[in-house]
Amino acid sequence: MSHNPILSFEFFPPKTPRMERTLWRNIGQLEMLKPAFFSVTYGALGSDREHSLETVFNMQRECRVPVAAHLTAAGHTRESLLELAKRFYEAGVERIVALRGDADLLEGGIHDVAVMVQALRSIADFDISVAAYPEAHPKAASLEADLAHLKRKLDAGSQRALTQYFFEADVFLKFRDAAVKAGINKPIVPGILPVHDFEKVQSFSERCGASIPAWMHNSFKGTQAGSIEQKRIGIELAVGLCDRLLREGVEQLHFYTLNIPGLTFELAHQLGIPLAWDERRAGF
Ligand code: FAD
Repeated sequence: MSHNPILSFEFFPPKTPRMERTLWRNIGQLEMLKPAFFSVTYGALGSDREHSLETVFNMQRECRVPVAAHLTAAGHTRESLLELAKRFYEAGVERIVALRGDADLLEGGIHDVAVMVQALRSIADFDISVAAYPEAHPKAASLEADLAHLKRKLDAGSQRALTQYFFEADVFLKFRDAAVKAGINKPIVPGILPVHDFEKVQSFSERCGASIPAWMHNSFKGTQAGSIEQKRIGIELAVGLCDRLLREGVEQLHFYTLNIPGLTFELAHQLGIPLAWDERRAGF
C-alpha cells in the first residue's frame, strides 16, 4: 500500500502535565508526516477554553506545522469572538475551524456559522474550515437541509469542510455525491477516528450521531476495553477505510488523533504514507 494524501491532525488541549508531555510526543511523531496543519479543539466536551488557547499559542510557537484554532460561536458575543480571532491572527495563527459548538449561543453572539465565516474573513485573510456531517447532524431537519446549510458556510468564504467521523466508506462517498449534486465544489475532507477503546467510541458515537455498523461489533467481540488488541483492530479497520477512500479519489484526510502517540502514526505507516525526508513527500 502506498498513498500520499494531504493530512491534518486534530488534538485536544491537555489537562495535566503528564497529558501535556504525551501530546508533545504525539506532535513530534506526526510532524514527520509533513501535515498541512494541526488543529486544536475549543471547549469541546466541556473542556477548558483557556487550556485551548494556551495549547494553540504554544503550538504556534513551537511547531514547524501551521496551527488551526477551533473557534465556536457558542459562548461568545460577536465582539469577544472577533477579538479572540484578532489575537490569533496577530500571533500568527491564520487558520480557523469555525464551529457553532454545543454550549449555549449568547445574546449578542453570532447564531449562524455562515455569518461567523463572513465576520472572520472581514477582519483577516484566514484559511477557514467548517464542519460537515456525512450522516447528518443529530439535530438537522434532514440531510438535504444540512447540505444546504453546509453550502452556505462554504460559500461564505471557507476553504473546506472537515467531516464528523464515520466507519463505512460508502457513507462518505454517498455524502460526497450528494454534496456535488447540491452544488458544493470545495473539498470535503473525511474525518478519520482510529478506534482505541470500542466502549468509549460507542458511547460518544451515540451523542454525535455517528453510526456503528453491526460488523464492527463482531470485530471487537470478546476484546477488552482499551486493550492493545482493540487498538490493533482499530488501526486495521481505519487503514481499510482510508485505503478505500484514497482509491476513490479522496486527496485529503483529517485525523482525530485523541492525543494518543503512535496510533495515527502507525495508521499512516500502514497506509504507506512517506515521511518528511522522503522525496515523495517533499512537494506534496
Ligand atoms: P452548524 O453549522 O450550525 O450546524 C450543522 C448542522 O447541524 C446544521 O445543518 C443544522 O441543521 C444542525 N444543527 C446544529 N445545531 C442545531 C440546533 N441547535 N438546532 C437545529 N439544528 C441544528 N465542538 C466544540 O465545542 N469544539 C470543537 O473544537 C469542535 N470541533 C469540531 C470539529 C469537527 C471537525 C466537527 C465535525 C465537529 C466539532 N465540534 C466541536 C462539534 C460541533 O460544535 C457540534 O457538532 C455542533 O453541534 C454543530 O456545530 P457546527 O459548526 O457544525 O454547526
